[in-house]
Amino acid sequence: MTRKEELRKRQEQFIEERGVICLDNVSKSYSTGSPALNGISLNIHRGEFVFIVGDSGSGKSTLIRLLLRELTATSGQVCVMGRDLAKLRRREIPKLRRNLGVVFQDFRLLNDRNVYENVAFAQRIVETPSREIRRNVPAILATVGLAGKYKAKTRQLSGGEQQRVALARALINNPSILLADEPTGNLDPKNSWEIMKLLEEINEAGTTVVVVTHNREIVNAMQKRVVTMKKGVIISDEEEGAYIDDED
Ligand code: ADP
Ligand code: MG
Repeated sequence: MTRKEELRKRQEQFIEERGVICLDNVSKSYSTGSPALNGISLNIHRGEFVFIVGDSGSGKSTLIRLLLRELTATSGQVCVMGRDLAKLRRREIPKLRRNLGVVFQDFRLLNDRNVYENVAFAQRIVETPSREIRRNVPAILATVGLAGKYKAKTRQLSGGEQQRVALARALINNPSILLADEPTGNLDPKNSWEIMKLLEEINEAGTTVVVVTHNREIVNAMQKRVVTMKKGVIISDEEEGAYIDDED
């Protein structure tokens, strides 16, 4: 075995044991205030669908930003796809992010470009040959239910359509993990359900999906793993869980 093969094998074993996402006693403090995360441990395995719920300010977005390596932990270990993010070199960050698709509440699209360009852009960044881009973009747009909308400017679309574009962009490079931070926060109930059903389909096709949400009805109906956070700690973690009512 070459050294590279050996490293890859060890990484695979690590993922097998500890999951594609693992946090071990992770804390994160910003310069002001009490810690946003206070000793969190969490393992998410390949192919899981996990909801992360909790009051505003409980640390959900901080957790997502640690996984993206937009932030680094104050203490504890954060691993994604078998890599310890504290040991990642700066030039390795783009490779990490290619493994992570991400969508946000506010879509974050390029509003002066059309739908096709918004999605194709994500492929150009990773230097996909244009022949492949021309094949991949229509396929992913069909998957998210936007076939035939290529030329629309994103600001002309409804919120639900904009989130579908964001989802297509997040998926076009075939990430292992999809992270969604309140993806339905700006959507009406019908569009919220459609986006969640799409996330479920994406998960069923093999992608690990982590969804931060406040949507109690959807969480309770979907019967997935539910991790509940409060004031920077995990207060419950249940398979086929429900949205926990906060008593105080
Ligand atoms: P959630 O996404 O669950 O609403 P956040 O992770 O955004 O929670 O925030 C957790 C805590 O960290 C909150 O008290 C928030 O005010 C604080 N916080 C978040 N981002 C920053 C920041 N950039 N600088 C200082 N404090 C922050
Ligand atoms: Mg948040």
